Amino acid sequence: MKTTRAPFTRCVECNEVITNPICSECLAREMKVMVAEYDENLANKIDGFKIEGETCCISCGSLMALCAHCFSKDMYEFLNENNKVIAKEFLNRFDFELRREFM
Ligand SMILES: [Zn+2]
Ligand SMILES: [Zn+2]
Repeated sequence: MKTTRAPFTRCVECNEVITNPICSECLAREMKVMVAEYDENLANKIDGFKIEGETCCISCGSLMALCAHCFSKDMYEFLNENNKVIAKEFLNRFDFELRREFM
């Protein structure tokens, strides 16, 4: 049987098609800048992690398999445990359909 490749790959975590491919490393870089405006120590703890897939990041071109929504969600939960003010601001700036879930 012939297998046909899907035009888009799916996220390893939520299994949704990745339509807005920005890898966690690119996102983490932007998130770090935002968090550093409030708390530099916390910003230093933010790091992207690489999960290789078949989708190309539109920003840096590296291969990725985790969608922006899932990565932002993990990051939001991390921030919310550490600083609720920053977590709220985070939702305003990196709203990858997160608000629908959390608010
Ligand atoms: Zn996902
Ligand atoms: Zn990237």
